[in-house]
Amino acid sequence: MCGIFGYVGNDSRLATLISGLKSLEYRGYDSAGLAFFDNNEIILRKQKGKVENLEKIIDMNRTFNLGIAHTRWATHGAPSMQNAHPHLSENRSFCIVHNGIIENFEDLKSQYLEGVNFKSGTDSEVVAHLLEKFLTEMFLVRFKRFQVS
Ligand code: GLU
Repeated sequence: MCGIFGYVGNDSRLATLISGLKSLEYRGYDSAGLAFFDNNEIILRKQKGKVENLEKIIDMNRTFNLGIAHTRWATHGAPSMQNAHPHLSENRSFCIVHNGIIENFEDLKSQYLEGVNFKSGTDSEVVAHLLEKFLTEMFLVRFKRFQVS
């Protein structure tokens, strides 16, 4: 079973996300990843295997204010760095982690996400792309209405 750990607050170190993931290791997993905000950009780091592998490729002292981390237990797509969470939307504005299974992800893909460039073989990635598509559209509609009235 996988795990999710998030942090929002005053400057913390990436070590916080790693220790959060370590506290979830007992649940079992095959890969681990994290994402955090830096200068309005989402930075992503992922590794197959143990949280220790992830720890080796990040600067544990790097500070951040908002971050999310995940240990994955693959259900759709092999255990790999590519398939590890988090997943980004195409314009990198939306970043998601997910536990569980999205039973209708193939339908969602073909109905709403034609032409989207998927980076993983997971079911979860559809959520990032759906958020980008629908929240962007919603914002544009509201903005248009706001301009008219
Ligand atoms: N179904 C998702 C995947 O295969 C999430 C698995 C999990 O709960 O870790 O990536």
